[in-house]
Amino acid sequence: MDTYQGGCHCQVVRFTVQLDDPTQELYRCNCSLCRKKGIVMKAVADTDFDVISGHKHLSLYQWNKGIAEHFFCSACGVYTHHRRRRNPRQFSVNIECLDGMEMPEAFSVGLVNGLEHD
Ligand SMILES: [Zn+2]
Repeated sequence: MDTYQGGCHCQVVRFTVQLDDPTQELYRCNCSLCRKKGIVMKAVADTDFDVISGHKHLSLYQWNKGIAEHFFCSACGVYTHHRRRRNPRQFSVNIECLDGMEMPEAFSVGLVNGLEHD
């Protein structure tokens, strides 16, 4: 595993994440929230993800069952990560927030059927 750095658009929120390969096991989710965000994500153990700056600028959005925790920067609005409802010991990370990560669609992107996850 290597340590990657990333952050929101305005760089107020910065994080590190341990990843084996940032181009593998990427996914989209078709739930009503993820569709509107239009993001490609990667799931990691919550112990492999650390917010290193900007904690107080992270806003939390919750909906539906209130289990998942969706975090975004209150300054620039960019979604950075969320604690997963289907596995609360994992975060999913907005892969395009990684420094130097562009065009994740160029890699294989799976689909999580969050639409029917009740
Ligand atoms: Zn920001």
